[in-house]
Amino acid sequence: MKTPFEKIQKSLLLIIILLLSAFLNTGCSGDQPLIMNGKSKYKIFVSESAIPSEKYAARELQKYLKEITGFELPIVNTYDSKTKLIYVGFEDAGKELLAGLKMAEFENEEFIIRSIDGNMLIAGGETRGTLYGVIGFLNNLGCRWYTREVINIPRLNTIYLPLEEIRQKPAFEYREAWYKEAYDTEWAAHNRLAPSTVPIPDSLGGSFISYPFVHTFYRLVSPDIYFADHPEYFSMIDGKRKRHEAQLCLTNSEVVKIATQTVFRWIEEHPEASIFSIDQNDGYGYCECANCKALDDAEGSHSGTLINFVNQIADTVAKVYPKIKLQTLAYVYTEIPPKTLRPADNVTIRMCHYNYCSAHPIGGCSSHIPFVERLEGWDKISKQITIWDYFTDYARYLLPYPNFERMVNDVRFYAENGCVGLFAQGSNVPDNGGGEFNELRAWIFAQLMWNPWQDGWTLIDEFVTNVYGPSAPYISEYIEMMHEQVKPDSVYFTIYAEPTDGGYLTPEIVQRAEQLFIEAEEAASGDPALLKRVELAHLPVLYSRLYFYSTGGRVFLSKEEMPKVLLKFERIIAEHKISRMAEGKEIGDISAFIERVKNAPNFISDWWIIGPFNNSNEKGLETIYPPESEFDVDKIYSGNESQKVKWKSYKNQESGYIDFTKIFHPSENGVAYASRIFKLDKNKSMKIGLGSNDGVRMWLNGRLVLDHKTLRKAEPNQEILTLPFKRGENSVLIKIDQFGGGWGFYFSLLDENYL
Ligand SMILES: [Zn+2]
Ligand SMILES: [Zn+2]
Repeated sequence: MKTPFEKIQKSLLLIIILLLSAFLNTGCSGDQPLIMNGKSKYKIFVSESAIPSEKYAARELQKYLKEITGFELPIVNTYDSKTKLIYVGFEDAGKELLAGLKMAEFENEEFIIRSIDGNMLIAGGETRGTLYGVIGFLNNLGCRWYTREVINIPRLNTIYLPLEEIRQKPAFEYREAWYKEAYDTEWAAHNRLAPSTVPIPDSLGGSFISYPFVHTFYRLVSPDIYFADHPEYFSMIDGKRKRHEAQLCLTNSEVVKIATQTVFRWIEEHPEASIFSIDQNDGYGYCECANCKALDDAEGSHSGTLINFVNQIADTVAKVYPKIKLQTLAYVYTEIPPKTLRPADNVTIRMCHYNYCSAHPIGGCSSHIPFVERLEGWDKISKQITIWDYFTDYARYLLPYPNFERMVNDVRFYAENGCVGLFAQGSNVPDNGGGEFNELRAWIFAQLMWNPWQDGWTLIDEFVTNVYGPSAPYISEYIEMMHEQVKPDSVYFTIYAEPTDGGYLTPEIVQRAEQLFIEAEEAASGDPALLKRVELAHLPVLYSRLYFYSTGGRVFLSKEEMPKVLLKFERIIAEHKISRMAEGKEIGDISAFIERVKNAPNFISDWWIIGPFNNSNEKGLETIYPPESEFDVDKIYSGNESQKVKWKSYKNQESGYIDFTKIFHPSENGVAYASRIFKLDKNKSMKIGLGSNDGVRMWLNGRLVLDHKTLRKAEPNQEILTLPFKRGENSVLIKIDQFGGGWGFYFSLLDENYL
């Protein structure tokens, strides 16, 4: 890691270089017009033997200069000494423009823009440098490719040759933003992404291809082929070799041999790829055999056996394919670097920032401290770290997810800490996952991955202003409001955020957000394309209201208003062809969500409650405490840890969930009761829905009607019972136990017409 002083030194150096280059080039071109009042004598020169992306770059330059000025510069591949030229690519460029340049030193994506004696050069390293130079030149003129449909091209009469020489390369060699926009190859090329999962054709500059994408252990050594005869190739867990939820036995030399053969086959079958992945399967299940354990213990991390394994394959590969690299993960159980082993020179480390705080940037709260320490550790032993980071809500893509501070800060953090690539994971693109501000996020990441020293908030402003036009002020206010909500240190949510996590979605905030989007939509009326974009941005707020409604939060959305909001939600989902709402298939099922909203029951959320009583022996659910034999609001009982407990009245308007963790302390090792009277004017059998975290007992009029000892997360209607209620007063008593984490219940009446 660099110290702040080193960072200052680095910026000073940059300034000096910029000043020097400005000084050296003044006087070369002056204020010489390239196109003057819509007319020009210039031609665009691209060599006949230029690579496809350079020819594309020349055509793009011609196309956009024409859009800007109305004048079309001809493209030529021959010239005489009198013609003024813009050379696109180094090939056959004028000698005076190449003075002092060592073309071989230009990296793949590095470019130079300079003008000397009235001619101009835009050129760079193969395979994308020249194209990125043209994009950079157009960017400087104000061209922007914000989304697939919103492209801003300025209108100018006159364009001058650039006064100062520009030489640039991106901060990261691998730049992937996993959002829908970025799967449009032209959009990706214009925004200079170098992704792995998007096959950008060579004519548009190509991709940065690694193969296979990730989690490859079972592709390297298939359990379908080998497990039956060689269970020893796979993880030993609790003394047994495991086929499922497992990994490979990395110290087995036969496993190394087979994996090496697979990698050689991949290299031959995939000449388009320059990096091959040797990655653990998702999840846990590392091998605990004596050999693996000894090595991992000695290295202080499971990355010990991993790096040892990858290095052996890498050594064999290096002898035959010196340019090929292998990559492996530092992820979950391999996140800690090994003590003494070093990744081989042809091994890159893909480190995952997995499941830390999403509310605050790295350095902004204590959640990230272990990650920073581990990255420092890897940085000491590898100069080839790429980062896999998560910028979406895995649990609910459509939830308002204000992780803006992470977006605008953490790309720079990675660049300043020696990382050479970044995968910003957004919502599931191949399955058309929706997600809050996907287009904004794709564009911001593309800009920052190229140059992370730009101000991210200024970029957000620029995007919102240009993409949302007259609706922009409302959307800016929404973003700012949500950002303010998550600023406090106490706010914490991860990539598995549930709508109540972090506490930032209060009824007041959701109401204000809804109001802002109504105003934003009004401002967009008359412009159908804009309205469609604003409605897409509105979708997460609509989703959160419907979600809260489905779990009893009528303060977020009334029963009367629900059908209208649901209809709008369904229309926007259909118009934007969003087909998935979460990483998990079940929770991501949109039609199931719509059904839950439509069939949301009447949640009962006003109860008498009492607790906590002792559950330290985990027998609290079975132990009979006084509330099971009497209901006396004046009596005081001895509760958990000798605290005095008594009945109190409780009502939750924000949700049908009765959250005991927010009511009783300590919330660990307790049991608590809720009691209520239901009055009926006749005998009636009633359908009851109940969900609990964790185990539950329920009595109706003193008779035990439900007894379920379980460990689970509460969802509405986990149990559905039909119970005989009588005319007059009926008492319902519910008891819930707790084993850590959440603690509470949902109770609902599923019959339409009660109450
Ligand atoms: Zn093993
Ligand atoms: Zn935090």
